[in-house]
Amino acid sequence: MKSLEQLLAECEEAAFDLQFKRAKRWKAEDETRVIVGYLPTYIPREIIHAANGIAVGIMGTGDRKQIIKGDAYYQSYICHLPRGIIEMALDTNLEGFDGFLFPAICDCVRNLSGMFKLSNKGKFQRYFDYPQNFSAHIGGKFYIQELEKVLEDIFNVNGVRVTTESLNHSIGLYNTNRQLIEAIYDIREASPWKLSAVETYYLLRAGLGMPVEEHNEILEQVVGYLQNERGEPMDNTRVVVSGSFCEQPPIGLIKSIELAGCYIVDDDFMLGSRFIIGDIDHHTDNPLSALSEAYIHQSTFSSAYYDVGNPKGKRLVALAQRRMADGIIFCAASFCDPALLDRPELQKEADAAGLPHINFQFHENTGQFKIIKEQAGTFSDSIKLWA
Ligand code: SF4
Repeated sequence: MKSLEQLLAECEEAAFDLQFKRAKRWKAEDETRVIVGYLPTYIPREIIHAANGIAVGIMGTGDRKQIIKGDAYYQSYICHLPRGIIEMALDTNLEGFDGFLFPAICDCVRNLSGMFKLSNKGKFQRYFDYPQNFSAHIGGKFYIQELEKVLEDIFNVNGVRVTTESLNHSIGLYNTNRQLIEAIYDIREASPWKLSAVETYYLLRAGLGMPVEEHNEILEQVVGYLQNERGEPMDNTRVVVSGSFCEQPPIGLIKSIELAGCYIVDDDFMLGSRFIIGDIDHHTDNPLSALSEAYIHQSTFSSAYYDVGNPKGKRLVALAQRRMADGIIFCAASFCDPALLDRPELQKEADAAGLPHINFQFHENTGQFKIIKEQAGTFSDSIKLWA
C-alpha cells in the first residue's frame, strides 16, 4: 500500500502530464476504448465512461509548454488557456484522442472548437451546449438531445452502444468520486492543515486524466489517511478562492496564497469534478433524464452556468459561511469575460454579508508571485487585526 506522500507525488505527476500518458496507456489495452478530451468547465463524464471511453480534462499548459504557434491564432487581449491548447493540438500532445468536447462558456472556447474542426483534430469535435431554460420538457429535453449527439459521435468511432445498465453503473462511479472529493473538502474545512490546497489540487487534477475507478481508489486511500493527524494548525485566515473555474492559476500562485497565511477552505479550481452537488439517480430506467435533471437542479453556481433565479452572489456567500471563511479572494484569469463580468455582483453580495475580499488576475504561465503574496498577506493580516 502506498503512503500518502507517494499518492500525492503520483497525482502531482499525473496532474501535469501534458502527454496524457495514463489515459493513452488505458486506451491501448482495448481497441474499442476511446479518449475524449474536454475543456473546462463541466462535461457529464458519465456518458463517455458508459461508452467505453475516458473523458480527459484538458486544463491548459500552465507554464509547462512554450507557446509559439498558439499566439498566432489569437489576438493578444484574451486569456491564455486557448493558446496553450491550440499549441498542444498542433504539437503531438493530443495525438491519440478520438474526439473533443468544448463546453459552451465563452467566445474563446467557441472559436477554439472551430479551429479544431478546421484542423481535423480527432474524429469528432463538438461544441457542447447547455440549456438556459430549466423546464424538463424544454431545456431538459434539449440537454438530453445534446447528450445523445455525443453518444452518437462515440458510437461512430468505436461501435459501442450504451445501455441503461452501463449508464447507471457509470453514474454510480462518478457519484462515488464526488462523494470522496466532498469528504476531502469537509475534512479540510475542519482541519485545513491536514492537506494543503496545492495537494488537494494535485489530487483533483490527476483525476481528469485517469479512469474514474483508479481515481476513486486513490481518493479512498487519501480519505483514510486524513482520519489521522497530519501537520500543525496555524493561526491562518480562512478564505474561499473564486473565479478560477476555467484557466487554472499557476501552482506558485496557490502556494503564495497559502504561504501568505491563508487556508483556502474552498475554491473552484477543478469545478467540473464538483459541478453536480449530491448524487445523481443511478437506479433509474432513464439515466440520460437523470443526468439532465441533475444538471438543471443540482449544479453548483458558476459563471459557466446560467441561472437567473438563484443568484450566484448569494450562493458564494452561503458557501463562504458554510466553510467558516473569513474572506474571499477573487482570482480570475486575465481577460476572462465570464468571471470578470460576474465579479461586481459577487463583490456586492460579499460586501452586504460583511465578507472582506481582494482580487487578483493571472495568466496560467504567470511567473512572479511576490506581489500576490504581499497582497494576500496584507489581506490576511488586516482580517486578523481588524475584522
Ligand atoms: S478563461 Fe475565461 S475567457 Fe478564457 S476560455 Fe476560459 S472562460 Fe473563456
